[in-house]
Amino acid sequence: MLRIYNTETRRKEDFTPVDPGRARIYSCGPTVYRYAHIGNLRTYLMADWLRRALQKQGYEVTHVKNITDVGHMRQEVLERGEDRVIAAARSEGKTPAEIADFYTQAFLTDEAKLNITPAHFFPKATEHVNEMISMVRSLLENGHAYSAGGNIYFSVGKFPDYGKLSGNRSIKVGEGDIEGVDPAKQDPRDFTLWKTAEPGRALKWASPWGDGFPGWHIECSAMAIKYLGPHLDIHTGGVDNVFPHHEDEIAQSEAVHGAPFARHWVHAQHLLVDGLKMAKSTGNTYILSDLERRGFDPLAFRYLSLTVNYRHRMNFTWQALRAAQRGLERLRERAAELPGDNRVDEYEAEPFRQAFWQAVNDDLNLPRALAMVWQAVRRSELSEGVKAVLLRDFDSILGLGLASAPTSPSLPGEVSELVERRETLRKERRYREADALRQQIEASGFEVRDTVAAPQVLTRRASRASTTNIAISSSGEASSVAGQPTSLDFSVGVIARDNRVDIERCLGGLLSHTSGHAIEIIVVDNGSTDGTGEWLDEFAASNRTVRVIHADHNLGAGAGRNVIFKQSRGRVLIWLDPSIEVTGDIFTPIAKALENDKVGIVGPFGVETHDLHDFHEASAGDVDAIEGYLIACRRELAHNIGELDEKFRFYRHLDLYFSFACREMGYRIVALPDLSLVRHPHSEWLSLADEERDKLSKRNFYRFLHRWGHREDLLVANSTHK
Ligand code: AMP
Ligand code: ZN
Repeated sequence: MLRIYNTETRRKEDFTPVDPGRARIYSCGPTVYRYAHIGNLRTYLMADWLRRALQKQGYEVTHVKNITDVGHMRQEVLERGEDRVIAAARSEGKTPAEIADFYTQAFLTDEAKLNITPAHFFPKATEHVNEMISMVRSLLENGHAYSAGGNIYFSVGKFPDYGKLSGNRSIKVGEGDIEGVDPAKQDPRDFTLWKTAEPGRALKWASPWGDGFPGWHIECSAMAIKYLGPHLDIHTGGVDNVFPHHEDEIAQSEAVHGAPFARHWVHAQHLLVDGLKMAKSTGNTYILSDLERRGFDPLAFRYLSLTVNYRHRMNFTWQALRAAQRGLERLRERAAELPGDNRVDEYEAEPFRQAFWQAVNDDLNLPRALAMVWQAVRRSELSEGVKAVLLRDFDSILGLGLASAPTSPSLPGEVSELVERRETLRKERRYREADALRQQIEASGFEVRDTVAAPQVLTRRASRASTTNIAISSSGEASSVAGQPTSLDFSVGVIARDNRVDIERCLGGLLSHTSGHAIEIIVVDNGSTDGTGEWLDEFAASNRTVRVIHADHNLGAGAGRNVIFKQSRGRVLIWLDPSIEVTGDIFTPIAKALENDKVGIVGPFGVETHDLHDFHEASAGDVDAIEGYLIACRRELAHNIGELDEKFRFYRHLDLYFSFACREMGYRIVALPDLSLVRHPHSEWLSLADEERDKLSKRNFYRFLHRWGHREDLLVANSTHK
């Protein structure tokens, strides 16, 4: 018997279907205006495990997963007529249908790579508008909806059960209240069922209320009911779907059919990255091909997702993914060694089988189930035949492809030649020579594994970061030399990220103008995947002044600088943007300016402000802040200010934040506009779309304001002793 947590009743319940022996599952599927990120995929994995668990119990499952190709938008955007698919089409110069088709295919491919069993139906919203219209018509007829300003709204006040899923019963509107509530609504909680098309809109349908298009919530109700009937057994989604999406689905569906819509509501918790929810707007999303690009098997992500219960948030790190990949590989190797025949002593197998399925049936406790897998595999008194049968049984839900042979990655010709030569040497017991070849193979980024059953398993190394000397997953992993005395005149810190051309120019400029000072250059390679990291390793190998610290992913601007601070040994620390090219001796004037111990920070680009909102360039002398293109301070000051806020993933305004922290400590900030350097276009800035820049900049600015917005007293203009 499967027990599963029901969001609506807030407890674990026995799964009880409407019809005995059948399980009807509806899963909110992707909005196809972009690639699904691995957070979305975690939610689909959860639905897959749920479905496989029910199938294992003998239920006849029907699974529906919708494709949202129109209508998904936040309420306030909806009220302005914006649609994500249309917006994406506009920005990519394609038609909405082309965009939707492309991302639907990409989504299906991702699911296949993750061994997610395809749903029986993938209904598209655009192909079910008639069903939606007829639901809206019923709601109008039975008084649960009204028409106003050309649109049709659901009347929340007429549905007394509203809020039973999410607990939001009061006037708690969604994001809509930020932009102001649509004045046509009778109650701010009411939501749009049908919206009149604005002039010129291409994606629209004829309806009894004129040309228009459906709201987002109505599509899931209409398609669920069409394929599964008005009583579903299970409805799944991510926790962000609970309100308003699923609350609204319940209201509409039950208002039409007068009976409970879904029996069990199952929601997967979010995937986080560096502790923040993975979302496009935070700039911390990864898609499956990002994982593949770094040499990971997509199923390593499936394995990783098995290690955290679906009701817990899962913090994604590359390190954890590497561990998952190793776990998966070891499990596959064990599976490959086991015999293929099925004769098995049930008596021996039973305790393991039971413990495993008990864990699965206890609210999908897959971490415990996975632990059982390893216990069975490692148990020495269990025969190999039993292990083989158990693994095959377990894999019917795990879906790790343990039964099928591991697939070798495609090998470059010279690598396969090395592998063959090595194998021959091994057979001739010339192990020393074979080992030398192994090293060569590894140097090309491949790993050789020798197992009993399959003599050669080759996997591309997971993440090139693992091949470099230092690869960190967080700033906390970088060692600190703060306690050690200063041993150099200057430490220059640069953050690299997929910008080899800039970095090469930046480092070249620095190295040609060290002007006899003892300097070190610390480059934090913030998860480059375009070869910048490899280039840096080569460069550093022939330039002892340069030290590279690789992060296995983008740690963000704040964390990257923290790594530099921790690693600096120079008396003066310079943080330098890769867009800057040094063209002369900058070190002597910087050192001179910092001889005055009242001066905290210097740099070429000073800014000043009168109200902490408008900042403008200042010429020379005392300023309120130095821009992050080049900021120099004594190492001691950086240490006294302490770690930078790592929520600053984007670089902008971190310089203001740092400058104000320095002002607060009573130091002067001085602009040195005459430093010899050239400012080149900023590639990170240029790589972003306007909207994205705006959003990221604003977010950082709010962070700055939140901390320093009330400190007018720190401004140069208000200072009594300039
Ligand atoms: P969307 O394509 O945005 O409609 O989302 C598809 C599914 O992914 C929905 O069920 C969401 O609730 C879920 N989802 C969105 N963000 C995350 C996240 N960070 N982690 C896990 N699931 C998510
Ligand atoms: Zn939905």
